[in-house]
Amino acid sequence: MVQERWSFQRIKIVYKENWEKVFLNNYGTPNIQLVEGEGVLVKDSDGNIYLDFLSGIAVNALGHSHPKIVEAVTKQISKLSHTSNFYSNEPAYELAEKLIEISGLDAKVFFCNSGTEANEAALKISRLTKRKQIISLKSSFHGRTIGSLSITGQVLKRTPFLPLLPNITFLDLNNLRQVKRKIGRKTAAFFVESIQGEGGVYEATDEYLNELRVVTKKRNTLLVLDEVQTGMGRTGQWFGFQQSGISPDIITLAKGLGGGLPMGAVLVSKEKADLLQPGQHGSTFGGNPVVASAALAVISTIENENLLENATEMGNLLINLLQTVNEIVEIRGRGLLIGFQLRNIKAKDLENECKNMGLLLNAVTENTIRLAPALIVNMEQVTRCVEIIVDAINSLEKAKI
Ligand SMILES: *Cc1c(COP(=O)(O)O)cnc(C)c1O
Repeated sequence: MVQERWSFQRIKIVYKENWEKVFLNNYGTPNIQLVEGEGVLVKDSDGNIYLDFLSGIAVNALGHSHPKIVEAVTKQISKLSHTSNFYSNEPAYELAEKLIEISGLDAKVFFCNSGTEANEAALKISRLTKRKQIISLKSSFHGRTIGSLSITGQVLKRTPFLPLLPNITFLDLNNLRQVKRKIGRKTAAFFVESIQGEGGVYEATDEYLNELRVVTKKRNTLLVLDEVQTGMGRTGQWFGFQQSGISPDIITLAKGLGGGLPMGAVLVSKEKADLLQPGQHGSTFGGNPVVASAALAVISTIENENLLENATEMGNLLINLLQTVNEIVEIRGRGLLIGFQLRNIKAKDLENECKNMGLLLNAVTENTIRLAPALIVNMEQVTRCVEIIVDAINSLEKAKI
């Protein structure tokens, strides 16, 4: 049981040195190592307990070690762990049916293992339209493989890896004029997140998504909603785009889908599904029965425990409490994907101070903190989170004087 609050110690130097000996330096050296978790609490190797308001970057939808996921995975792995796609398996089939149902789309499904792979599949499908141009948005994030990186609207991430895919156009989020002007008869696909997560938690307005739908339909351009971060209940609805009432041609999923196990999915509307022909795409692990059974447990738990409603309520509470904090100048997002922008304080400093005080959150940009707790988070934990944020801000301000 992860319950007690222990005293905080800094990470051992010897551990840091060993870590740097074996790992490539792409992440920088983490200064804590997590060993176990339960619900919204997680414990490090020194015995410190943290309130986890990042959830492995919006992945642990039901928190850590949820009994329903443990049960589903344990049962499935002791029966059948992997089949390849030469043979079908029951959990994958059931999950595909369930995803179609909750998406509200008349669609067909492809399974993969991550967000970037889901977007790669969408990119390959867009090539099959025979059109060459792809449109994406500035500050967007779609993944790290060459294809997904090519449509990621962040210059610093792209530049070291040039040349990337050609014919990509980046527009400004929520700019309706550009949508009308730039989508043409050569535009294969338009990629958009319903809320830009990695970009700093910026919402696409309902008006923008509706206009995008009208124009892409008129030009016969695929509208691809990247719901990798915003899907699976994170925004208080199953998928972020559902608030706008539109029907995309393609949606891509990952992060929360497997509840902590690696899984991605692509849903393609039946109208466009035949673009992809036999032999044109695949994944060895995609639709693995163990991860599919975890995803089924995620969906049924969200349904049985009314976690969509909880995400909305706890998100609203979080926003209300954050609004009372002086140093916060703007709060963005909805449900349990919330970003707040700071004045006079670096987001990274607040992230570190909160970590020292027992709260995990994420400096998503220089001045913005991202919160993405598990959908099971309760009122007491939300209140405690904001208390720690206030304490951490006070402590940083005191240190400045
Ligand atoms: C995280 C993320 C991805 C990439 O997912 P990976 O599983 O890391 O490949 C793609 N799109 C969005 C919107 C994301 O948030």
